[in-house]
Amino acid sequence: MTRVDDAGPGRARDPASCRFVVLGAGGLGSPAILGLLAAGASRITIVDDDRVAASNLQRQVLYNIADRGRAKTDAALQFARMRGAHLDRRGVRMTRAGLHDLLDELRTTADSRSVVLECSDDASLKFDVNDVCVARGVDAVIGGVLGWRGQITVVQPGGPCLRCLFEQPPPPEITPTCGSVGVIGAAAGFTGYWMTLLALRVASKQPVGPAFRTIDSRTGRCTELALQRRPQCPACRGAPESDQPGFLATRRAIQS
Ligand SMILES: [Zn+2]
Repeated sequence: MTRVDDAGPGRARDPASCRFVVLGAGGLGSPAILGLLAAGASRITIVDDDRVAASNLQRQVLYNIADRGRAKTDAALQFARMRGAHLDRRGVRMTRAGLHDLLDELRTTADSRSVVLECSDDASLKFDVNDVCVARGVDAVIGGVLGWRGQITVVQPGGPCLRCLFEQPPPPEITPTCGSVGVIGAAAGFTGYWMTLLALRVASKQPVGPAFRTIDSRTGRCTELALQRRPQCPACRGAPESDQPGFLATRRAIQS
């Protein structure tokens, strides 16, 4: 079993003792899950309602051509079993309310600590995950990838969050997507594996530091923008979720 022990006596935790919740088993989720399995994580829950498509196999490395049309959660479970591991899978579309319910369920099944890896391609879901995890004091690693570039934000209890940096997601009608811009498969792999490394450090109670991380795989340049809590951030102020301006604005933008 992998141990993470560079933090000094009494601080290291075995990643197998932590529950990792991976939202999205696509371009980012595939390498993230591979990395978690390789690290010896044994409590992994994956959430995805999509099916495997041949056109995405270049970056969704958990799957092969024989998996076309299968639920990603089923194909991912089979992959894990072939490696002697197991995945807890949920074939549903994740929502804000659904994440609350899932974290409640995991907490009542003796998993006292969870780290959420947000690997979907849904910008509004990333903010929903941020808000839920801030409200509940749950660690989250929120990632995204487009073209050659990836980005990652680590959200931890008491620290700055995604909404401290961005008040709300951009309107969907002006947001480039993987479908419109494309994704370099290796950029998704790089970003997904980096998300796993950060999640393992968080799970092991090792310092990560509040930063907005970006990766430009054309140049190999990685940057870290130090984050600070924004006094007006509704998520960090603990405003009721339905009263958060960003939440309402986001919903209006999606519904318009
Ligand atoms: Zn905040």
